[in-house]
Amino acid sequence: MPLQSMVPMLKAAQKGGYAVGLFDVHTLEGVMGVLEAAAELHSPVIVAPMGMPRKAAVALIRELADRIPVPVAIELDHGRDFASVMDAIAAGFTDVMLDVSTRPYEENVAQTKKVVEAAHYAGLGVEGEIGHVGRGDAYDRFEEVRAAFTQPEEAVRFVSETGVDALAIAIGSAHGVYKGEPKLDFERLQEIRARVEVPLVLHGGTGIPDPDFQKAISLGISKINIYTAMALAAVDTLREKLQDPNARYMELGRAVQAAIKEVVKHHMTVFGSAGKA
Ligand SMILES: [Zn+2]
Repeated sequence: MPLQSMVPMLKAAQKGGYAVGLFDVHTLEGVMGVLEAAAELHSPVIVAPMGMPRKAAVALIRELADRIPVPVAIELDHGRDFASVMDAIAAGFTDVMLDVSTRPYEENVAQTKKVVEAAHYAGLGVEGEIGHVGRGDAYDRFEEVRAAFTQPEEAVRFVSETGVDALAIAIGSAHGVYKGEPKLDFERLQEIRARVEVPLVLHGGTGIPDPDFQKAISLGISKINIYTAMALAAVDTLREKLQDPNARYMELGRAVQAAIKEVVKHHMTVFGSAGKA
């Protein structure tokens, strides 16, 4: 199918009680693994190229998406400023995220609002972040992590002041590998969900147990971002394959693609997006 914005996908997910996965990719194997998983499971999917030449990544994803019967969106994940967002718009992304969540509230609003105006003008959806989703390696200082959780009242104001289409919230998930066990604040999620209308996004999905994913989705998460689980699976596969002294480079790439595909299929199944395209 032609590429499409994630916004209608997320609205359908919100209504249908499931979540669409965003999968970060930085190689051809990543792109192909993710899209093969989506095609096999008939799942809508959001691909986020990172560290790839942007126009080339969009051309590749568009070409592959055209051949499969599922909706595919391309989002700029964690866009850091207006210039980066403009570059992604010019490259043909369908959606952008602006993450200036470490900045003071007023600055976050001002910058996000500017991005929303420009991106909407160009026909793209926008994800913002309020509160701050930190890193799993800081998770042993949980009080610091908790201090950056999203305040429900602030989330309400942020959405109405910026006009974002989706909102990333901080409720205890973190990027990378967790030092310790992830603890999601489900009550806070419920409070935010009750007051905010736009689809809610959970970043830092790797390491969260499947039942917690499902609980978060049942309480109103409509998009979940995954990277680390794919990266860990790729490295494990390479380590195993390289035990063989005659390992062939071409086979390593194929094995990585297959490993990423399995991780993506698992998440699509847990998120309930399988069969929704
Ligand atoms: Zn993230």
